[in-house]
Amino acid sequence: METCPICGHTLQVIKDKPYDYSECGLNVVLYGITQYYCESCEEAFAEIPDISKLHRLIGANICTKKKAILQPAEIKFLRKNLQLKAKDLAKAMGVSVSTLSRWENNKKEISDGYDRLLRSLYMMYASEMDCCIIQEGVLNLFRGFPHQRKHIEQPSEIALNPQEWMIDSCICAPAS
Ligand SMILES: [Zn+2]
Repeated sequence: METCPICGHTLQVIKDKPYDYSECGLNVVLYGITQYYCESCEEAFAEIPDISKLHRLIGANICTKKKAILQPAEIKFLRKNLQLKAKDLAKAMGVSVSTLSRWENNKKEISDGYDRLLRSLYMMYASEMDCCIIQEGVLNLFRGFPHQRKHIEQPSEIALNPQEWMIDSCICAPAS
């Protein structure tokens, strides 16, 4: 990308600035992404490699790194990343579509049990689709969740670097 796709002006290349990837609906910050700025339009563009793999990594990150109860935007992200319609995910989880939609729209907090079920479904289904295990030691992961998860204060930011999703062809999280 050398010229602005909107006005044709020469773009300024920015290498060392974190990119706020809020387009994905979550508080995700990408480091090490090349960005371009058009002084004339005052528009910034970013070159994000392999977005589908990045989204899978974000999903895996939510399921495995986040100890607090899932937030509405995270629930929605997981469902969309699995390319499931609300009715299909609701059916798989054994809840009504309106319950799922209340979770996604911040009208009702997901319970601890359904939170674990959704993470399990995500990890299994994504592992099947990618032929790649997202998380080894899932039992330990869930056992490690503290009690009173509703009261955990956890920063919502997910910070990622392209190396994390560009390694080989697999985003398998190493067992820890
Ligand atoms: Zn421009």
